[in-house]
Amino acid sequence: MPKRLLRLGQRPANVQPSAAPASYGAVVAIVAIIEDEARIREALARALIDRGHAVRSASTGMAGLQQVVDDPPDVVVLDLGLPDIDGTELLKMLRAVSAVPVIVATARDDDGDIVATLDAGADDYIVKPYSAEQLDARIRAVLRRAGSGGGSVVIDVGELRIDVPRHEATMAGEPLDLTRKEFELLAHLAANAGHVVTKRQLMADIWQQPYGGADKTVDVHLSWLRRKLGETAADPRYLRTIRGVGVKLVDPEA
Ligand code: CA
Repeated sequence: MPKRLLRLGQRPANVQPSAAPASYGAVVAIVAIIEDEARIREALARALIDRGHAVRSASTGMAGLQQVVDDPPDVVVLDLGLPDIDGTELLKMLRAVSAVPVIVATARDDDGDIVATLDAGADDYIVKPYSAEQLDARIRAVLRRAGSGGGSVVIDVGELRIDVPRHEATMAGEPLDLTRKEFELLAHLAANAGHVVTKRQLMADIWQQPYGGADKTVDVHLSWLRRKLGETAADPRYLRTIRGVGVKLVDPEA
């Protein structure tokens, strides 16, 4: 178990929770994580969100492939040991439909596997256990090589604009006054726009806490966010709650 990685999701004591993550470097991205182990996936999501990235994740290869096809991210972090399909096979399928940069994360460290991975179309690989710092550096490197490392990850959903590196959101050009958690929640939902994100996922990725069914943290933040977006639960526009499942961000005009 890569304990080192799991610790990285925790914020150092000297970092103020309200501080914007700009000091981590200007290059941020929409990162899709395809990883079946929940603890690794969630720690990774938390660590990348802390570094200013927007994250979406899938726990199976086919779900991850579908996400990439539906809505291409800037970079994919792909675990090779997946339950439904071998990661190298998935990589070949992904390459057939997308040029998105792929960083393979693997526990296999022999030369043959690594060469096969690169031959199958990976842009880079990282051997488990690895640190979030190292992964972040590799993400920035593949983005630079792909020519998309401008630090300009802006997500538009209807009249809503989320500028991930600046930690700013606007509605029809008007700035929204969001707390850090509200912004992270909005950016996370925007990175997954059109797809339901479960409360369990949100608790894990934004708060790095397990979700007990009675926990109201997500609901409370959603209701604050809803108010700032100028809508109500009874008359939702952007934030659609799917009872018993989770929530998704949608373009109300689409
Ligand atoms: Ca795995």
